[in-house]
Amino acid sequence: MNAFLYRDGLLHAEDVPLDQIANAVGTPSYVYSRAALEQHWNEFKQGFSEYDASIRYSVKSNSNLAVLALMARLGSGFDIVSGGELERVIRAGGKPEATVFSGVAKSADEIKFALESGVFSINLESQSELMRILEIAKSLDRRAPISVRVNPDIDANTHPYISTGLREAKFGVSFEEALDIYRIAVQQSHLKVVGIAVHIGSQMTLLGPIIDALESVIDFTERLDAEGIKLGHLDLGGGLGVRYKDEQPPTISEYCDAILEVLTRRGCPLSISIEPGRAITANAGIFLSRVEYIKTTESKNFALVDGAMNDLIRPVLYDAWMDIVPIQQSPVESRIFDVVGPVCETGDFFGKDRKLAIDEGHLIAVLGAGAYGAVMSSNYNTRPKPVEVLVDGDQFFEVNTRENIDQMLDSEHIPSQFL
Ligand SMILES: *Cc1c(COP(=O)(O)O)cnc(C)c1O
Repeated sequence: MNAFLYRDGLLHAEDVPLDQIANAVGTPSYVYSRAALEQHWNEFKQGFSEYDASIRYSVKSNSNLAVLALMARLGSGFDIVSGGELERVIRAGGKPEATVFSGVAKSADEIKFALESGVFSINLESQSELMRILEIAKSLDRRAPISVRVNPDIDANTHPYISTGLREAKFGVSFEEALDIYRIAVQQSHLKVVGIAVHIGSQMTLLGPIIDALESVIDFTERLDAEGIKLGHLDLGGGLGVRYKDEQPPTISEYCDAILEVLTRRGCPLSISIEPGRAITANAGIFLSRVEYIKTTESKNFALVDGAMNDLIRPVLYDAWMDIVPIQQSPVESRIFDVVGPVCETGDFFGKDRKLAIDEGHLIAVLGAGAYGAVMSSNYNTRPKPVEVLVDGDQFFEVNTRENIDQMLDSEHIPSQFL
């Protein structure tokens, strides 16, 4: 769903003109659409309505408390990768019992917090982690719910930094090792073997690898079954891609149908989890910034905007192409610009060689910025992190206010002898 459309030459978020938001909260800022977030989640829910499936929103793609609260109200479960994210889920009204804890290096404190909170499953990724979970479960005298995250050695066909299902990746364990882990786990009264998990990458635009991963995991569960190790649940991870430029990812319903086809054909008896992040949030958000200066050199035109790589790092981190549009369609002549920020790095850009009709003082939007945007922001160059705004129809709410300089510096201390 596209909640960001022009009306009378002015880009809107749902029914709110974006210049109104910029004037109210300043720039740079992120703007999210409630309608789009909910629509995308509902498409996953509807896609699996015929199956025992749980949609567990992947918190790391956009962890703003207001976004999590919307997901919780829809009845979403959650996929978390840290104790901090679990705290967010709880504060937003989400249920720990509907939450799975993923991640390759969970600390003892995080595992303890997850067990005490009663998460649905800890998706473990090594024998050492199994032993740590077991020890903590014994000390708390609790039964730890666990799943093993397998690495099926399948190429997700995506950017190397977000490809997680190849043998050389740090994620998951091989089927052979998983077998060893299950054999140990089922002997332990302080462990409850919930199921199996797989997640091979992010921004996947092909169904093939997802289906191959599912088939190979089903093969493996049949092998376990033959050994008397019965699982109840299969967590298929997230990773469905979105369109930023000219990618042609499957639609949410095509993705659900393809998975259902395999589950049905294979007569899979397991309940499933799906952990979408990007497919829910990416196109439900934009990044709003203002042009400070136009600078023309012998070789280039630069639009120097007030947002920077510390606010939105995807272009330089993943070499990601993100669309950039003016908020106000204006009669100024369009020119070719590199759209860059104020940070002292040549990697501080949002787009290169973009044809734009913009001038100093104008507002621009970077589209598709709802996922892996605000969550990856930092204070590099001692810049406050951007504001986040949630739009609901003709209303908007500041759901993350801009930090002030005291908040940024408060945690730092000068030892007295250096003063
Ligand atoms: C990151 C992640 C997801 C979500 O990935 P998206 O590409 O945002 O859908 C889901 N599950 C796990 C285990 C992850 O690490």
